[in-house]
Amino acid sequence: MLLKKTVLVLFSLSLPFFLISCSDAPYKQVRMMMGTLNEIEIFDLKKQVAQKAVEKGFDAMQRVDDLMSHYKESSEVSRIKNSVPLETVRVSQDTFNVLKRSEEIAQLSDGAFDVTIGPLVKRWGFYDKEQKPLPTRQEINRMRRGMGYVHLFLRPKNREVSKRIPTLEVDLGGIAKGYAIDLAVKALKQAGVVSATVNSGGNIGFIGNPVKGEAWEVGVIDPLNPSELLGVLNIKEGAVATSGNYENYHEIEGKRYSHIIDPRTGWPVQGVLSVTVIAANAMDADALSTTLFVLGPKQGLVLAEKLNAKALFVLETENGKPELVFSKGLETQFKP
Ligand code: AMP
Ligand code: MG
Repeated sequence: MLLKKTVLVLFSLSLPFFLISCSDAPYKQVRMMMGTLNEIEIFDLKKQVAQKAVEKGFDAMQRVDDLMSHYKESSEVSRIKNSVPLETVRVSQDTFNVLKRSEEIAQLSDGAFDVTIGPLVKRWGFYDKEQKPLPTRQEINRMRRGMGYVHLFLRPKNREVSKRIPTLEVDLGGIAKGYAIDLAVKALKQAGVVSATVNSGGNIGFIGNPVKGEAWEVGVIDPLNPSELLGVLNIKEGAVATSGNYENYHEIEGKRYSHIIDPRTGWPVQGVLSVTVIAANAMDADALSTTLFVLGPKQGLVLAEKLNAKALFVLETENGKPELVFSKGLETQFKP
């Protein structure tokens, strides 16, 4: 049996998480933004008050989509892409915050996280979900020379951004949903909410505790069988995010190529099936799940610890049974 009676399934089975909670009268709304389903659920307010709070939460998320989507020509991210080398692009504080954290995580991960990866993600066919022929090594290497976070300059004083090479683009797909959740959480708290969840495509931010029980229960999907759970994580506060190889992928000649690219090779990461990260805020959880997916468990767990986050790796094995690798202590929060 997949789910217990008290389980509330958010969205569809294709999302990386099931959020499980017990509540008598939650107020819930779902909205499509940032290319995914977003859900805000409030457990402690009467419908009328909750409705207003939810609107504020979604407004904040919509703002992030408008500023940071590379699919929108009017976004700040598109303005950076369309600028010429050394031209100054002044951006909002929100976009600057996300670019700054992206730069820090790129530095801390030695470039495993790199928001200039866009052209490669596109070449591999993950923007339009269209399968393309495998690129040649020369093509990948040429593209890699046209990217790199070190070519993006950030000047905090006037929130100025400029790029050093013409081909540079910014893709915040690995971090912006987390930031949007953090802004929504802030807006909800300001509206007086004390128990709620904000879910963007399976990245979840928590406010307070569930109405019943002390911890939020989040199901971790089995990447080899995404309609099943591997188990349930108990989470007390903060945020959680998963990056999985089952979310957006192509199968070419029997091999799966998924949407997270290793900037150091230009090739989609192999061997990691999913990474779930618990962090103090959703931006870090989101960025780190993508980063750790690239780094793998050995370096990934070191980086997680450095940033006070915890991670669960699900790895491919030869016997077809996934191997689970936990940050120290996280195993006690996991029920298979
Ligand atoms: P997530 O699902 O949060 O792991 O984010 C995956 C998305 O991040 C992809 O669809 C790309 O848009 C982007 N991405 C892929 N590889 C990387 C990388 N190495 N560093 C930063 N962003 C990436
Ligand atoms: Mg991410």
